[in-house]
Amino acid sequence: AELDTLDIIVLAALLLGTIAYFTKGKAWGVTKDPYSSSFANANGAKAGKTRNIVEKMEEEGKNCIIFYGSQTGTAEDYASRLAKEGKSRYGLETMVADLEEFDYDNLDTIPSDKVVMFVLATYGEGEPTDNAVDFYEFIMGEDVNFSEGNDPPLGNLNYVAFGLGNNTYEHYNSMVRNVNKALEKLGAHRIGEAGEGDDGAGTMEEDFLAWKDPMWAALQKKMGLEEREAVYEPIFGIVERDGLTKDSPEVYVGEPNKMHLDGTPKGPFNAHNPYIAPIATSYELFNVKDRNCLHMEIDISGSNLTYQTGDHIAVWPTNPGEEVDRFLDILGLTEKRNKVISVKALEPTAKVPFPTPTTFDAIVRYHMEICAPVSRQFLATLAAFAPDEESKAEMTKLGGDKDYFHEKVNIHHLNIARVLKSVSKGKPWTNVPFSALIEGVTKLQPRYYSISSSSLEQPKMISITAVVESQHLPGREDPFRGVATNYLLALKEKQNGEPNPTPFGLTYEITGPRNRYDGVHVPVHVRHSNFKLPSDPTKPIICIGPGTGVAPFRGFVRERKKQVENGETVGKTILFFGCRKSHEDFLYDKEWQEAKEVLGDKFELVLAFSREGPKKVYVQHRLKERSKEINELLEQKAYFYVCGDAANMAREVNTVLAQILSDERGIPEAKAEEIVKNMRASNQYQEDVW
Ligand code: FAD
Repeated sequence: AELDTLDIIVLAALLLGTIAYFTKGKAWGVTKDPYSSSFANANGAKAGKTRNIVEKMEEEGKNCIIFYGSQTGTAEDYASRLAKEGKSRYGLETMVADLEEFDYDNLDTIPSDKVVMFVLATYGEGEPTDNAVDFYEFIMGEDVNFSEGNDPPLGNLNYVAFGLGNNTYEHYNSMVRNVNKALEKLGAHRIGEAGEGDDGAGTMEEDFLAWKDPMWAALQKKMGLEEREAVYEPIFGIVERDGLTKDSPEVYVGEPNKMHLDGTPKGPFNAHNPYIAPIATSYELFNVKDRNCLHMEIDISGSNLTYQTGDHIAVWPTNPGEEVDRFLDILGLTEKRNKVISVKALEPTAKVPFPTPTTFDAIVRYHMEICAPVSRQFLATLAAFAPDEESKAEMTKLGGDKDYFHEKVNIHHLNIARVLKSVSKGKPWTNVPFSALIEGVTKLQPRYYSISSSSLEQPKMISITAVVESQHLPGREDPFRGVATNYLLALKEKQNGEPNPTPFGLTYEITGPRNRYDGVHVPVHVRHSNFKLPSDPTKPIICIGPGTGVAPFRGFVRERKKQVENGETVGKTILFFGCRKSHEDFLYDKEWQEAKEVLGDKFELVLAFSREGPKKVYVQHRLKERSKEINELLEQKAYFYVCGDAANMAREVNTVLAQILSDERGIPEAKAEEIVKNMRASNQYQEDVW
């Protein structure tokens, strides 16, 4: 590609700037702001950008392209890690690419001295992630047609595949399995195994690490690569901007994009552009010992956002101040926290994951998942920047020894700053290039919540039902606290008149960047889901929703109540709800009674309290007790819904349902399981689990 003058100026300035940064000097000679990126542009399609993979690789001089199909950012993160490792260990010219941004009809023309990697998450009921839909349809198409007419069509293609899945779902890792099969069928050559990571078993990271080494060995052999001593090369250049302060109007201090910076956010509101929504009401549904559950009503009337009963709302959290401080502190960045910097990708195919110019504080607080689990590989990378030999040795050991890492880091839920601090015994890690942190710490992700209101009843007000995440862990002084739910708890306190909320001693910048959120607004967007009431309201429904799994069913029941109030006829609605104790964590007790008054016989609530009797009773036990009735309702084409815990409950409910069908219909279990499968395929059985 041709460089225009601005590019050359930028590159030159960056080079100087990078040197300046690493030598702790100052960036000089910058008067205009050539690096300011509006972010929307940085992320969106550039005019004239090619969708031709072969052309793109040629243009950028790449021989390894790593595609990701990602929904929550993990697959994207793994793709970047493969790119980095391929480059640093084997000198491969790697690039990461979003599956959505290319066409696939010339996959057959990729020369055999190049390699294509696929990192593919499976989403929901075996579906591709949003960005992988077109690719998947293409590659799975009955008559994939390539222009060259090779035989076999992809005989030249070398590929690598890793999938991210969850074994608690029926279609475990079906994306990578199906894509792998399709590629094999087209004659492509896979290098190494098609790896599978399992989030359900909590082994995703270890599965990835265990898969990649043999894959690299196979790739090395196949492509005749030479392994070299891994050299760290920063992907991002950081320039300190002495002319700017955090109050300068062009500096991002947490705003997600240019429109927000300018104070003129406009729709469409989506995963790149949140709506800063007012919180209308908020309260605790219960509060026992260390467990709180929040109900929050979020007003979307000032936006063009819409939702349907059963959809999800995404909350964009900010990190707690204490963790931001801990992170900046251990990296020796506290004094510089408000220093303005510009960040630019030194690699044309890399993207800066936040808008700049910005400050260290804003990056860490609003854009980095600093509280999340640490990857073992990242610790190994950081060993090179340890403040002393002892720390370096310890980091290398943590990075290399799975069991040691598990015992020292994992079980205590330590985040990156806590690990660094404990390894170096508090000595700051001032040698870590900030680029390594941008590369190694994932982007702060929005959290999803099953909407617990009905769009028929309140089309412009969305409610959330969320349990505040808090865990006491052995060998750790302070409990582990979830990011988004404690942020929501702080907002709840503020909304109820507490001027300076500090839930569990944590502080949040709830007033948002430049005080725009005012403490009673929360950044959100809506994601449409397939978890939907039958279009015919007279159909019976069976809902299984223990704990916060009841959230969407509150919406369902309220919807049916409203339908009856509007003079419509509704089908039988039976809800199985479970919790610990009737007087402790029973959600929406009064509301169910009110619904009963309107719905009468059409509504039945079946309760399971796990800690009241001598034996633990769960929703699946209650379901079994109702076998006869459940079977009859299903024969009347009742819809069956499950929401909540994916790891245990949802799987057991599935098993129990098959037992019910087998017993009641006098058919073998295998046959009953087949029926349940078909119910899922035809959407008569729907899950909303996490
Ligand atoms: P996080 O900080 O994200 O922590 C969550 C968990 O991650 C921890 O419990 C822990 O297991 C692990 N973890 C985090 N950091 C570490 C670490 N350093 N080391 C080891 N482990 C770590 N929740 C509801 O309450 N109600 C709902 O209606 C609801 N609906 C959902 C719908 C969907 C489609 C999905 C995907 C999720 C839903 N959730 C719901 C869950 C919700 O999105 C959040 O995951 C939950 O609220 C916790 O978020 P958090 O930021 O507070 O916790």
